[in-house]
Amino acid sequence: MPLVPMRQILDEAAKGGYGVGAFNVNNMEQIQAIMEAANETNSPVIIQASRGALKYSRMIYLKKLMEAAVIEYPHIPVAMHLDHGNSIETLKQAIDLGFTSVMMDGSLAEDGKTPNTYEQNVAITKAAVELAHPLGVTVEGELGCLGGIEDGHGAGLSADEVSDHLTDPAQAEDFVAQTGLDALAVAIGTSHGAYKSGRKDPKTGETLPPALAMDRIHEIHKRMPNCHMVMHGSSSVPKELVDIINQYGGKMPGTFGIPVEQIQDGIRHGVRKINVDTDSRLAMTGAVRKVFFEKPEKFDPRDWLGPAREAAKQVYLQRMEAFGQAGHAGDYKPMSLDDMKKVYGR
Ligand SMILES: [Zn+2]
Repeated sequence: MPLVPMRQILDEAAKGGYGVGAFNVNNMEQIQAIMEAANETNSPVIIQASRGALKYSRMIYLKKLMEAAVIEYPHIPVAMHLDHGNSIETLKQAIDLGFTSVMMDGSLAEDGKTPNTYEQNVAITKAAVELAHPLGVTVEGELGCLGGIEDGHGAGLSADEVSDHLTDPAQAEDFVAQTGLDALAVAIGTSHGAYKSGRKDPKTGETLPPALAMDRIHEIHKRMPNCHMVMHGSSSVPKELVDIINQYGGKMPGTFGIPVEQIQDGIRHGVRKINVDTDSRLAMTGAVRKVFFEKPEKFDPRDWLGPAREAAKQVYLQRMEAFGQAGHAGDYKPMSLDDMKKVYGR
């Protein structure tokens, strides 16, 4: 099965009332771990790469690894998605490379740091749709700004600033109508990376998990029941994974993520794509640290990359079950980009 347009995966998820994990990759072990988990749970899946990942893997390697993934598991629908595209030029590169979906993050300027105006965001997202849809490629846009910085991307907003940049539901409706995008990334108070909370208990000074504005998702879903929403920065940062890192010499104090229950609430209200990156990074890092600590005589990379791959796979298995995509790989006949071109042309 060739890579399928992400739009189809999201449309089917909406029909089935489930969400689909979008997992970030940089290398072979992560792709293999995702595909093994998708195969074991019979899940459709979205694999995504950021600009940083494309640079690290030097593009062509990632493309060939993705081709290998669909050859090995022909019964699994897989979309390959560009995460946080910053310009039309970057989208063109990704589409040329065979990506079936691209994100145009017009919430920020091309530098990936400065917030754009609403009008700038509408204009560039619309341009992305005009580029991608005639080729059958899916477009994700973003309205509002997330906290944190990852791979050099992000406005670096503080917790207080994040609350000023949440997605406005009325503006979201206008944004979707004006741009014609396929999926809308919403800002509801999540951040990229593992350090996700600036909230402190006023009495004890203890760090608290981030407060998410789930009501924004509920309201957007009420206004646009057919709009596919995307939650970014949605790793759960499980304590047990952080504990393994710290136990074997790491230093990650006071980290929080998004509880899976909150994501499931989002899925009941139109969230179809859930971006998870940090959790697999934590799992892999913990596994590598454990090998180095317990078996200092080991020097074959397979001795630590193998356990890292296995640890990441466990995270993917859990998320695929929790998001509800498990069991749905065989529900539909995958479309090609050519099929999707006709749908957009209607
Ligand atoms: Zn993101």
